[in-house]
Amino acid sequence: MRLESPFGDGFGARFGSAKESAHHLSCTRRDFLRSATGVALGSALMGASPFVWGAAAAKKRKIIVVTFGGGARDQETFAPEGQENIPHLLRELIPQSSFFTQVVNQGILGHYVATASLATGVYETFNNFAAVAPEHPTVFEYFRKDLRRPSSDTWVVAPSNGFNRIGESDYRSYGPGMGARVILPKHLLTAAMSGTAPDYEHLLRDNYETPLYAPQLAGSEFELEQMETILKLSVDDFKAHAKTLSSPDELSMYVVRQLMRQQAPSLLWITLHDIDVAHAGAYSLYIEGIRRTDRLCGELWKLAQSEPEYAGNTTLFILPDFGRDSDQDAGGNGFQHHRTGDPASRTTWMMVLGAGVREGVVYDHPMQSTDLVPTLGALMGFSPSLSQGRPVQELL
Ligand SMILES: [Zn+2]
Repeated sequence: MRLESPFGDGFGARFGSAKESAHHLSCTRRDFLRSATGVALGSALMGASPFVWGAAAAKKRKIIVVTFGGGARDQETFAPEGQENIPHLLRELIPQSSFFTQVVNQGILGHYVATASLATGVYETFNNFAAVAPEHPTVFEYFRKDLRRPSSDTWVVAPSNGFNRIGESDYRSYGPGMGARVILPKHLLTAAMSGTAPDYEHLLRDNYETPLYAPQLAGSEFELEQMETILKLSVDDFKAHAKTLSSPDELSMYVVRQLMRQQAPSLLWITLHDIDVAHAGAYSLYIEGIRRTDRLCGELWKLAQSEPEYAGNTTLFILPDFGRDSDQDAGGNGFQHHRTGDPASRTTWMMVLGAGVREGVVYDHPMQSTDLVPTLGALMGFSPSLSQGRPVQELL
């Protein structure tokens, strides 16, 4: 079965790429994936997931959510000219995935507020550059409250010190004490270095968009002494290993590996951010960021297969928080930013693989960034009652 574009085959020719719509982007993305990986087109006719989880299995279920690096465009990823940058996604992960080509973000295109919106299922409206908690309950609070899980069972590893409050909302009846624990690897490294870290500057750059923004950390940030008790890492080992790493996302993945081994959280949220170096305007660094993110996603999935707590019962979600500007919009500067609000910057994607997920299927119906939380709720058995989105039926 093939879904036809309502615009007909002449759509691109008649309107040109400057008029790219979310629908058109989704259709071209779908066609790139089908020809590159051989995935089949799914349809609503396939109905719900054929997998049924018993109560015991559901309790062991793990979910890992990865936000894909701050947004990359199709011409540097899924399109034929970009495919060389994402060999792990294309060859290893997508053939095992249910892939959704049209995830539209209708909210504010700033990384903290957009990631918080992904985590609450509501388009949050707070200032992206403020160290505030999300206004609505996060997925971590729903998960812990409804399923009575301890704080050790859900963690966030976040790239920027500005994300230090993403673990729990300000919402009364949820909020303080009910959220995820947050690890900020850069904060941890700074603490390990006692403030001076000339050899580590490439790992510590905090924010690519507004480099001068450096929030004062307060509240529930990860304390240094917990490095030994929770991650089972000595400060010296951590510093020595960090020296071998080339980017903040590699530092995050190092922390994730320790966290999975030592704490094995059931709901783990990892925000990658290297791709956002694009704001500096260097195309080669942006491409390098995409390639590294692709590799780290492949490594994460291998790790989930090899860790006993995760092997066979883990479902991995990978999705960007949003996209980047197209080359055509006069209000932008192409790959560098995400400020125009054009379809390329808003129409992103999601891939889901692992336990309970159909393999090698691509879906192109529209969904919203806010649909993630209700989907996680339906899969794990909690009720995100204040989220605005809807569960993605093909994953249930
Ligand atoms: Zn950015």
